[in-house]
Amino acid sequence: MTIPADVLRTRAEPVADINDEIRALAEEMIATLHTASGIGLAAPQVDRLLRMFVVQVKDDNPRVFINPQIIGTSMETVRMEEGCLSIPGLYADVVRAESVQIQAWNERGRPFSISADGLLARVILHEYDHLDGVLFLDHLSERRREKLLKKYDTALKTV
Ligand code: ZN
Repeated sequence: MTIPADVLRTRAEPVADINDEIRALAEEMIATLHTASGIGLAAPQVDRLLRMFVVQVKDDNPRVFINPQIIGTSMETVRMEEGCLSIPGLYADVVRAESVQIQAWNERGRPFSISADGLLARVILHEYDHLDGVLFLDHLSERRREKLLKKYDTALKTV
């Protein structure tokens, strides 16, 4: 799904049961992530309003986060360029916490928590936002956001 799809602006519902259907969805999302050469994908991006996302950075194994909860974020922030599979072609520097502590359930129904920094923290925070209908553009100034969206609209018209 790409903007301006409503599903990208809607708060997702918790996963009620980590069953075969959810495992199949997680697998499908990981496959989609690989096809798109992305590093993170949230369920609303594939038109499912569920609180889950998948992440894979560098040589790491894919990680599945179901019903994630952010426990804490660092005071230190860092500026890093972001893009989004739902907003193809647009990139911008976004300021976010440098590290994050998060708990979630994996696709086998096991709870886990991790502390992440660097690119992993960045992608976790970006994907978590998707579960609340928030896009990376929302972290930019209004002026910057409008400028980027204008560029996006123009690109769509010329395709
Ligand atoms: Zn995104």
